[in-house]
Amino acid sequence: MAKILIVDDAEFLRVRLTKMLGTDGHDVYEAENGLKAVATYKEIHPDVVLMDVTMPDMDGLTALKEIVSFDPKARVVMLTALGQESVVLEAVKSGARDFIVKPFEHDRVMKAITKLLA
Ligand SMILES: [Mg+2]
Repeated sequence: MAKILIVDDAEFLRVRLTKMLGTDGHDVYEAENGLKAVATYKEIHPDVVLMDVTMPDMDGLTALKEIVSFDPKARVVMLTALGQESVVLEAVKSGARDFIVKPFEHDRVMKAITKLLA
């Protein structure tokens, strides 16, 4: 069981991931933008972060950079859309451990999390 922080401005997506990961026994936390993601990260020190890219207030790339500078060992997985290859590249350079392209399947998310927790 792990602490997982889900960051996405789309509520339906947070609900879906929370159900998915909660069913697997994880402790799930949510944030709807980058600012809240950084604040929540500092408060709860999650084992894994699932991070959307496009969000109001603070985008996912900026939040990723802030989290990694606070905790270089942070395990952040980016949730990207098709056509965001340049974002993926910058995210990997900035310390993202993996990325998942939306729309995603349960198995892909579970595999990414299992790999990061190993
Ligand atoms: Mg978004």
